[in-house]
Amino acid sequence: MTVQEALQRISGEVAACTRCELHHSRKKGVPGEGPPCAEIMFIGEGPGFHENEQGRPFVGAAGQLLDQLLAQAGLMRADVWITNVVKCRPPGNRDPLPEEVEAGTTPFLDEQIRLINPPIIVTLGRISMGKYVPGTRIGEIHGRMRRIGDRHVIAMYHPAAALRQPALRPVLMSDFARLPELLMQARAEQGRQEQSTGQSPPSPADPKQLSLF
Ligand code: URA
Repeated sequence: MTVQEALQRISGEVAACTRCELHHSRKKGVPGEGPPCAEIMFIGEGPGFHENEQGRPFVGAAGQLLDQLLAQAGLMRADVWITNVVKCRPPGNRDPLPEEVEAGTTPFLDEQIRLINPPIIVTLGRISMGKYVPGTRIGEIHGRMRRIGDRHVIAMYHPAAALRQPALRPVLMSDFARLPELLMQARAEQGRQEQSTGQSPPSPADPKQLSLF
């Protein structure tokens, strides 16, 4: 099975999932989308009204801001993977409960991360940051890349927070603007690690080498 096929299988499982209460408010499951060789994966919180209608992540007002932030960093939505911690809409856009986060993470989100294996994960907002850096405030760590296990993780404010609080917009813009530089750094570190562990470096035909900057 190719990565693309495995990702499609997960999407099918999300559409039929009854592992938590959120399936009651689901119109369409929102597994996430992007190229299987994406080098950056964005993880938001959970689908809102528009996402639930369309079955696609970040297609409402927060998604429009996300598109602008990506463009300003020289990226396009089609270059990156975009998903959420929970794959079905929490009623009234409330925060997902811990058991709902667990149901969306295992096996869906963790399996998507394993398959895509992105050099960089960007968490958008408090809930997805909690997966990697629990008990921290975004204000203290946003925009800084840290190594967590074999991943490079950058916590950022959620675009919806910048819509509610305009003062956060320039902060988010400057964090996004650093993504190209941080991606180069993550690639270089990954290359050094592959050399030290004796894994062969990616061949020029590796799709990861052809994407983005
Ligand atoms: N907010 C999120 O966290 N995810 C979406 O997909 C849309 C809005």
